[in-house]
Amino acid sequence: MENHDYSNLDYDKLKKQLFFNLAEKKAIKDLNIQPDAFIPVLFSLKFGGDWSFKTQKLAAIAVKEKITRYNEEEGEGYTLERVTLFVNPQVISTQGKVLRLEKCGTKNERELVERPFYVELDAEDIIQAELNPSTMTIILKRIKGPLNFEGPAAYGISHEIEHLTGCEYTGKFIWEFKYKLEG
Ligand SMILES: [Zn+2]
Repeated sequence: MENHDYSNLDYDKLKKQLFFNLAEKKAIKDLNIQPDAFIPVLFSLKFGGDWSFKTQKLAAIAVKEKITRYNEEEGEGYTLERVTLFVNPQVISTQGKVLRLEKCGTKNERELVERPFYVELDAEDIIQAELNPSTMTIILKRIKGPLNFEGPAAYGISHEIEHLTGCEYTGKFIWEFKYKLEG
């Protein structure tokens, strides 16, 4: 066995991480949600972005919205991160068509895709996690659907739903664009 000589700082960090993991486990238990279904939330909180996860029994997506609250007078603010988890999601309706370039984590290049501007989404279970950098809290609550999203959150949902259904959009690539010199 190796003999690690932990400094006080390392020990403090390890202790905090251990308690954080225990609190995470307890939160999942208290929410009464299948641990697998919570995975996209943990990924979104720890690594950022939107995530989807699928097993034989369930499908789940987590979409992240960033809301900056800035006080002009004090010149201070913070960016709240709201992660909404949908367990076995169901798209109620979509509206609009937006052309945009997207980079998926599983691909090497950005692709030109079409996304809806509005998405109405429902699910068997919906959990919202709000990470507040100002209070250093992560507030969890169960909410009722359906929910309406627009813009970036709608694009994210559409992207993750594609991963779940397996019909991933094969769009056009940047090298199919044409440069045009003006003036
Ligand atoms: Zn993706």
